Amino acid sequence: MLGHVYPDADVLGTLLALGQALEARGWSVVYGGPHPAPGALGFLPGVERYRVLRALEGRFDAAVLTDCPNPDRTEGLIAEARRACAVVVNIDHHPDNRRYGDANWIDPSAAATGEMVYRLLEALGAAITPGIATDLFTAIHTDTGSFRYSNVTPETFRIAATLTAAGADPSAVSSALYERRGRDALRWLGEALARVEVSEDGRVAWLALPAGAVPETFVESEELVNYPRSIGTVRVACLLRERHEGVKVSLRAKGDVDVNRIAARFGGGGHPNAAGCTLAGPLDAARDRVLTAVREALGPQPQPPEAGHPRSEAGTRNPAPTGARNPAPTDSR
Ligand code: 5GP
Ligand code: MN
Repeated sequence: MLGHVYPDADVLGTLLALGQALEARGWSVVYGGPHPAPGALGFLPGVERYRVLRALEGRFDAAVLTDCPNPDRTEGLIAEARRACAVVVNIDHHPDNRRYGDANWIDPSAAATGEMVYRLLEALGAAITPGIATDLFTAIHTDTGSFRYSNVTPETFRIAATLTAAGADPSAVSSALYERRGRDALRWLGEALARVEVSEDGRVAWLALPAGAVPETFVESEELVNYPRSIGTVRVACLLRERHEGVKVSLRAKGDVDVNRIAARFGGGGHPNAAGCTLAGPLDAARDRVLTAVREALGPQPQPPEAGHPRSEAGTRNPAPTGARNPAPTDSR
């Protein structure tokens, strides 16, 4: 069970759930990836088995990668998997998945890879233990922003209900994810949020964090990009973190633009409403390049009402109806 770089709950929850279901059927399973599981996800049942893997020793019947769109996201582990494993299985919900496996199951309509692995275990008739239920519930919980994003469907709730009945505890998961801050974390949060900036037209907000501004472990344990995203007028939010390998960028949209395409311009990827990429530093230059690409994707600024309707003839007053400049998100992914 092989994870992608900086593993999140969707990749860890699905690898652990599928692996434990296979172990119940007598398989031996090794879990790991290029980076360790973050401490904040230490509550996931089975996560103590997940280790840092750079190479694979011995032979394996199969390698399974979940939530991993492309070989770059494993720092070479996919090549190792091809060498050491008879079959490479690729299970993912990213629309830009490169289909690098021998078996590729890609479903961009799934809110989380957690939904797909649930459906797989159901089809296999696997027993959903409370541990497996917690792993999958957490995968879906985090990839849907606690069941708040536009990727949520009736199916998401049906699966979450079944997992709850099988022993996942929603309040325990929420508490483990969002109520375990260290005592210094709110001070770091204040430090970070003081750096949020908003464009003049209010449509773009960003947070650029220089290296060392706040501890890396704190940034890893927070979804900081959600704060600029939470501003009402904001259509695209960006978090830029200066790290040794470059500037790591997280992009979020509310359905107006496809941030996956913006990330792809810089060699990254993701989903229409949540994507990421890494740019060369310095931080200011990376920020300017990303913000330029975001402004291009958003298109021209809407005209202020005094200037009349954008399409009206010169001189005619035809103000847009209230709310027309800020339509409700129309995506229904
Ligand atoms: P986050 O902003 O939370 O790191 O990532 C949001 C989404 O974008 C996730 O679906 C993740 O897989 C994707 N993503 C983030 N960074 C990268 C990247 O550098 N390359 C690609 N291909 N996807 C990324
Ligand atoms: Mn995912």
